Amino acid sequence: MPHKKYFLLINPWICDFTACDFWLKPLGLLYLAAILKKYTKWDIELLDCLDCGQVESKYNFRLRVRPDGRSNFYKEEVVKPEFFRHIPRKFSRYGLPLSQVVSKLDRMPPPEAVFITCTMTYWYPGVQTAVELVRKKFGQVPVILGGIYATLCPQHARNQSGADVVVEGQGENQILGIISEITGKEALRPESKDVYFSDFDSLPAPSYDLYKDNSVICLMTSRGCPLRCTYCASHLLCPQFEQRNPQKVVDEILQVKRDFNTSHLAFYDDALLINHERHLLKILEVLAGLKLGLRFHTPNGLHPRQIDRTTAFLLKKAGFESLFLSLETADRDLLAATGPKVLPEDLKKALDYLEESGFERSRVSVYLLVGHPAQKKDQVVESIRLVKRLGARPRLAYYSPVPGTSDWNSLVESGVLNSDSDPLLHNKLVFPYFWSQITPEDLEEIKREANS
Ligand code: SF4
Repeated sequence: MPHKKYFLLINPWICDFTACDFWLKPLGLLYLAAILKKYTKWDIELLDCLDCGQVESKYNFRLRVRPDGRSNFYKEEVVKPEFFRHIPRKFSRYGLPLSQVVSKLDRMPPPEAVFITCTMTYWYPGVQTAVELVRKKFGQVPVILGGIYATLCPQHARNQSGADVVVEGQGENQILGIISEITGKEALRPESKDVYFSDFDSLPAPSYDLYKDNSVICLMTSRGCPLRCTYCASHLLCPQFEQRNPQKVVDEILQVKRDFNTSHLAFYDDALLINHERHLLKILEVLAGLKLGLRFHTPNGLHPRQIDRTTAFLLKKAGFESLFLSLETADRDLLAATGPKVLPEDLKKALDYLEESGFERSRVSVYLLVGHPAQKKDQVVESIRLVKRLGARPRLAYYSPVPGTSDWNSLVESGVLNSDSDPLLHNKLVFPYFWSQITPEDLEEIKREANS
């Protein structure tokens, strides 16, 4: 019997010095999966190389899931890229064992096309490995690459990833055209004709059903950010700041709870609290009355300036558990130069309100930037001390030079990086070895200060 035609969607491995599953899901790919399901006739298979709950028992891997839903990855050490030779750390491929993925591909019939995503630009070696395996097994099947790496480094992706098509930017209004070109409309349903997704809310809900285990799910209530911090690529990835209809967000949350009995939900928004009175608070007001037993997390950092008494109260009542706030630095000059979204006094007020509402201060994490080209060790240490004085937990957020940002342009203009530098150099852990005023020894001191 001929097999049913299908598209293969791949979320590749992370290749890095370190990685943990910080509620990571390939949300963009899951949105595209939903579009493929709705507007094409063919099946969909998801191969999420980061889904370590699926590691086979013969690999003796123990998935350690923390009470908040975060977990560890299986990892296999790989050869460190040549220009990281002098960095005294191991380099690994995080995610499913390579041999398990090879066996899985061996059991699959050839797909009609393969769609691959890639989150961080510097994780592209995972894409290369996935494309190599696909080529080895399926020959010249069309491979389409999208996601953050493809958007921020399109030329590199075209030259180095092995993909046939590199999709820049948001893919929802491109994917059906690509399929039409590949399959000559054979795959498309009649209702796909003239489909145009005019805004975020017009997309079908992400295809979480492609996972066996949906105890952890991620969700976005908005795309992009109206602010323009000099180190941030949010506006390059989502040129328009869009907020969804609060009721539709609530409906999606109710649906995942009903369909998958989800326990943890991570909000992936870059700017969850912007316009909070008419956006997030509307969502929280409903959730607070429902007692869903869901635990909410905010890995991308909340803007402390927007946390007033009502917001803090509703965050608690709705079931928010892991709170990450963004301060970035206590240095007012650096804040002014990089994006004055917050001041230390905003953080103090936010923590007061959160504590009043029942959050434990010591369990609220505050992101502090480390490694920005303008930063010196003492500025970071001062910021850590400020967060500690306020009773919260400092959490180091390492600087990554992201192509297209103002900071990136400055680094290129000053000759520190080339406009076509290898994306591996965007890795957030290599700054002390290449361009930062913070040395590896400084970084150790900073870490000690943060963890003491
Ligand atoms: S506020 Fe956050 S998301 Fe917005 S531009 Fe600044 S860093 Fe990016």
